Amino acid sequence: MTAVVKTRPGVGHVQLQSVPEPQCGPGQVKIEVAYSGICGTDLHVYHDRFPNYPPVILGHEFSGIVAEIGPGVDSVRPGDRVTVLPASAVICGRCEYCRQGFYMFCPKRRGMGHGVNGSFTRYVVVREDQVYALPEGVSLEEGALAEPFASAVQAIEEMGEFRNGDVVLISGPGPIGLLCLLLLKSRAKVIVAGAASDSARLALAARLGADITVNVAEEDLLAVVDRQTHGRGVDVAVECAGTAESVRNCLRAAGKLGAYIQLGIAGTELTVPFDLVLYKQLRVWGSVGYSVRTWRRVMEILRQRKLNLTPLISHKLPLSRWREGFQLCETKQGVKVLLYYDEA
Ligand SMILES: [Zn+2]
Ligand SMILES: [Zn+2]
Repeated sequence: MTAVVKTRPGVGHVQLQSVPEPQCGPGQVKIEVAYSGICGTDLHVYHDRFPNYPPVILGHEFSGIVAEIGPGVDSVRPGDRVTVLPASAVICGRCEYCRQGFYMFCPKRRGMGHGVNGSFTRYVVVREDQVYALPEGVSLEEGALAEPFASAVQAIEEMGEFRNGDVVLISGPGPIGLLCLLLLKSRAKVIVAGAASDSARLALAARLGADITVNVAEEDLLAVVDRQTHGRGVDVAVECAGTAESVRNCLRAAGKLGAYIQLGIAGTELTVPFDLVLYKQLRVWGSVGYSVRTWRRVMEILRQRKLNLTPLISHKLPLSRWREGFQLCETKQGVKVLLYYDEA
């Protein structure tokens, strides 16, 4: 089979190449990948801005069909439609975080697509506990969004910060920001802010139900926030871009006694007006990935069919055109780009 592989450390060194098919051992499930989304993390691995362990197959947001089950597996069967919790591919299973399902913090952790082989290929093999059956009515395309959706669900539903009637700023209209918007739009007034290059994504935010979209290159975001909140500032600012400008905007837009949630990854140190945390007495949260509890909630939200994630899918491309897909994400012309396997 072929796969998109980071072949050696450094910037770039990603190519389509032939790899051996993985074998399915005891307690493992072999999955034929249906759709695999390109994530900002894949771009970071390409540019070597995120820890990676080459040679490694990229990709970690995916759905597929169970092809084979190893001895001892009883929760899924061949033919089942599934998605996978990819962050816990390697864990110790014994530390206090693992025991609580907070795998993100396990010191031994390695995730799929950078720590171990990922999903930009035909077959993957994972542990049974990583596999989640897709609820009836959830397409394989939508199933491939379960992983980024889980990151949004942890931030929006599990930090306990959001209430009906809130005014919320989402800064950064990438897939995670837009998934946060879907979760919030029915209960909050949502302002979505983006940079000049985000115009296509801001237009999608408006179609998805954002109350106000702001291109910060053209409009004064803080003036908009002032108008929308009668000078009080937003109840919660959700940072989803990971840039200094976005962090500054969020800290400035947040109202006194408000909250700030960090979802974006900067990958470097930023210069920001951090005193505002003190002067406004903000509650500051970080949200990284998700826990097992989050995934239970994600599956229940998908089962309820009240939210539709599919409008975020802007492109579906064969794996052999992965470079084009990466480019669409890099230039922000695409929102969520899905790859599907083809024999190149
Ligand atoms: Zn991702
Ligand atoms: Zn652990």
